[in-house]
Amino acid sequence: MNPWVDAHNDLLFLAQREGKLLHQLKDSHSDLDRAKTTGIGLQVLALFSLNSDHPGQDILKELTLFFSELTRNDTIRLVKEKEDLKDFKGLKVLLALEGSDILEKDITNLHILYELGVRMLSLTWNHSNALADGALVKRPKGLSEFGKEVVHLTNALGMIIDVSHLAEPGFWDIIEISNRPIIASHSNTKSLCDHPRNLNDDQIKAIAKTDGVIGVTFVPAFIHRSDADIHRLCDHIDHIKSLVGIDHIGIGSDFNGFDGSLPGLERVERLPELFALLANRGYTEEELQKISGKNFIRVFKEII
Ligand SMILES: [Zn+2]
Repeated sequence: MNPWVDAHNDLLFLAQREGKLLHQLKDSHSDLDRAKTTGIGLQVLALFSLNSDHPGQDILKELTLFFSELTRNDTIRLVKEKEDLKDFKGLKVLLALEGSDILEKDITNLHILYELGVRMLSLTWNHSNALADGALVKRPKGLSEFGKEVVHLTNALGMIIDVSHLAEPGFWDIIEISNRPIIASHSNTKSLCDHPRNLNDDQIKAIAKTDGVIGVTFVPAFIHRSDADIHRLCDHIDHIKSLVGIDHIGIGSDFNGFDGSLPGLERVERLPELFALLANRGYTEEELQKISGKNFIRVFKEII
């Protein structure tokens, strides 16, 4: 079967916060075993801390949790190079830094994270840091000189740049200076749900022009103001398809990263129902393969 890709999941953050191991979160939205059983072949796991002044301790704990699971569970593989994106048996994991506060202002820190196996990063979470301003900053500015240096180095190392959470001025700076495809790992469309975490139509077109992918996300507040459910999520997919075509849509659940759940997609086990609903809307098997995994794998192979 064509491996499915989930481009954003906060399992490591949840485990770190709750003081549990990765296989001890059976009541969560999703864990690695359940993701794999459902059909996910590549799971992106975010490294994240809410402690923006001292994120290092949380992120090191999350890395430790991941590497101990990697030792314990021999069906999991860490994706570090293009070769690792073939032959999808078991579950592949790609590590992503969510918000680059931990870099502080030292580019050496990016080299260290790369050596540890991190292959994707977003410059900011919702607030400001030394690189750029996040989506919830009032009157945001674009990238700092250090932010631009980080973009150039991610391009050179072969790391994926994720623009989810970034404010719009920084977004356009990245579009201008990056020479690789850009992804938004977990964002929906502003035309259907006017939320600062979503992308407007110009941004969606700009990502598609880089040959990048937008991972639609299951956070109710990014789907509909009052009435979010799995059907309204399909509307966002329809909208992206109508704007830029099928090659730029993927899935970025944000499971374990938000409170509550999306009616119809409460847990990872229900993911097949999303693809069944899209099939009812006339999506072909080939189109569903692209949305469920092929598009993200195409971009990851090109960059890593
Ligand atoms: Zn996020």
